[in-house]
Amino acid sequence: MKIAVIGTGYVGLVTGTCLSETGNSVICVDIDPDKVQKMKSGIIPIYEPGLDVLFHRNIKQDRLHFTTDLAEAVKHAEIIFLALPTPPGGDGAADLSYILSASLEIAKLVKEYKVIVNKSTVPVGTADKVSAVFKENLAPGITVDVVSNPEFLREGVAVEDFMKPDRVVIGTRSETAKRLMTELYAPYVRQGNPIIYMDERSSELTKYAANSFLATKITFMNEIANLCELVGADVDAVRRGIGSDDRIGRRFLFPGVGYGGSCFPKDVQALVKSASDAAYDFKILKSVISVNEKQKVVLVNKVKKYFNGNIKDKSFAIWGLAFKPETDDIREAPSLYIINELLELGAKVSVYDPEAMGNVKALLGDRIDYSIDPYEALNGADALLIVTEWSAFRNPDFEKMKALLKANVIFDGRNLFDIEKMTDLGFYYNSIGRKLVN
Ligand code: NAD
Repeated sequence: MKIAVIGTGYVGLVTGTCLSETGNSVICVDIDPDKVQKMKSGIIPIYEPGLDVLFHRNIKQDRLHFTTDLAEAVKHAEIIFLALPTPPGGDGAADLSYILSASLEIAKLVKEYKVIVNKSTVPVGTADKVSAVFKENLAPGITVDVVSNPEFLREGVAVEDFMKPDRVVIGTRSETAKRLMTELYAPYVRQGNPIIYMDERSSELTKYAANSFLATKITFMNEIANLCELVGADVDAVRRGIGSDDRIGRRFLFPGVGYGGSCFPKDVQALVKSASDAAYDFKILKSVISVNEKQKVVLVNKVKKYFNGNIKDKSFAIWGLAFKPETDDIREAPSLYIINELLELGAKVSVYDPEAMGNVKALLGDRIDYSIDPYEALNGADALLIVTEWSAFRNPDFEKMKALLKANVIFDGRNLFDIEKMTDLGFYYNSIGRKLVN
């Protein structure tokens, strides 16, 4: 099939590449000429494991193309995906300006029936708004169908998630669009995972409900962890104890330094706003937002307490900057909040992350030091803070760490190490919801 994908970020580039992998002819469009130039010369502008093999293979086989020319892509495609940003606006609502202005541009270019598929995360009613833009701007006699097809991929495992999704949600009331979408997705659900059809509004809400539920699950565990610390319980034990119940499940029960990333914070906020627009007070999600705000600085509070409130001129090593492992994405990353707090309190910060250092450098410049490996960051530091659970941090050389750190002090926001082991090694080890080792 002939496909266009508008927007080549984490979602658009993965979508375009994975759709070309099953034999479709795909043109990806971006307004950023540097990005397009990079992709044309075979460079992937983001870090996403496994994407490179598919990207290079499909470019070589002439099925995957990049352009800044929207007209070329619209002419080529029978199905046009919108994978555009929907950042939070000032009032928390998703900003639809990217979606609506791209729709307007596309509408003016369309010369025959097309399916317009919205992959971005958008509030209920957006398909109607997009349909209206097309209706008003299409040439006479031409129609399009606007489909809601929210994306559930996770950064870090995005290729796997796209190639073998748990489910595909398709929101449309058009039989033609349903048939084309079913044909397009058939290769990805061969193992029997469902394509779930519904109306556009339910589909739009499904995405927000999924992300908000997951953010709530994490936040609930963070509160249990905070309580564990106060009552002398171990959150790891509690996690195992509840996770074995099928109704709860083992996943997404790990406490930490709050959720971040480009999706959960903005999507929870947007759902609260959509609810309030519909005169509904979404109390649980409001609490989720405020608990998460506090959780982002839980590690800094532990640090302040340890140093009796004075960390001026102390130096801290930070392991992990990305909002989660296996990505270079730092949007709303807890690390940024932690670094800012530490700098504001007059501390010095030295960081290491396997993939996200470039993005942080672009944001913070020389306000902090960047290390070439995890150990360099420790040199002379008063303490180590672990913020992202990269695998490479799970089994470090503890003796080397001791030799480099000024004091053997670790604040672990991801519970990477065994409490007994840290006791034996003689570290001060302060993690989340577990016994303090000192
Ligand atoms: P992103 O910021 O990584 O990428 C957006 C891309 O669109 C950028 O490359 C930008 O240059 C381009 N762009 C902006 N305006 C354009 C225009 N008029 N024409 C062409 N290109 C344009 O965003 P993302 O993380 O891929 O997210 C896209 C959407 O998908 C958002 O709604 C997001 O909520 C949703 N989503 C994201 C994820 C995720 O894990 N990142 C997962 C599921 C859903």
